[in-house]
Amino acid sequence: MPLHTKQQGSLSIIGLGPGRREHMTPRALKVIASSEYVIGNALYLDPLEPLLTGKTVIRSSMGKEVERAKQAIELAESHAVAIVSGGDAGVYGMASIVLEVLEHSNAYIEVEVIPGVTAANAAASRIGSPLSGDFAVISLSDLLTPLEVIEQRLDAVFSVGIPVVLYNPKSRGRPHNFALAIEHARRYLGAETPIAIVRNALRDGEEVIITTLADVENIEYAVDMHTTVIIGGKESRIWRMGNDVKGIITPRGYHHKYVY
Ligand code: SAH
Repeated sequence: MPLHTKQQGSLSIIGLGPGRREHMTPRALKVIASSEYVIGNALYLDPLEPLLTGKTVIRSSMGKEVERAKQAIELAESHAVAIVSGGDAGVYGMASIVLEVLEHSNAYIEVEVIPGVTAANAAASRIGSPLSGDFAVISLSDLLTPLEVIEQRLDAVFSVGIPVVLYNPKSRGRPHNFALAIEHARRYLGAETPIAIVRNALRDGEEVIITTLADVENIEYAVDMHTTVIIGGKESRIWRMGNDVKGIITPRGYHHKYVY
């Protein structure tokens, strides 16, 4: 039997969840612990700091995703490499670019994609149950998708009356996309449609605002790139406890079948 002397590497593409350690999966924690290299955006790496002792940490910045992917693949031929994204790595994260670059390389390495709690679920959990049945997710970032395509998608999803989660709702580079999305929502949904603005869900500096499609301009100042916006669908309503507004409920439909 020949001895396998060449060290075999591996590449783990890891979703870190919304921010805090307690919302990471045990699998993500375990694989980071056994990695030699950890690669990711500084924003996501800093909170991991205590887990990174003894590892080579490669901090990258936004807009450098392709280089980061290439570097990860090269290293993963002979080392245990973790490449990390916030939320889920497969949702507007690093997973697809890493897999595409891998496809174009000649490398054959062990790959694992480890899921994480994505912003839609993190934000929804802070306001009750707004996404109880079918829902859609749209990113308002036009860096990789032309604005007219985003607008077509907004029309498609608002027209069927399901709740819509907006990622990347606003940034300095595209301050008007959120207002544009609201314009599209108003073509199909009533003034009382509930809207939630969830900023820094499940991490420090969390803020939640519940409003309606009629009043959303009043809180537009609170929408930025750390925010996920949930626009209710035709069946969504404000959830109250006593006089307090707690969030949004989109009934799953049990009331059609049961009395409760
Ligand atoms: N891969 C990430 C999404 C990256 S796109 C995920 O699965 O969550 C970046 C956008 O995600 C932000 O502009 C914001 O809209 C949303 N986002 C990410 N983390 C968030 C959080 N903790 N709270 C609110 N929104 C968040």
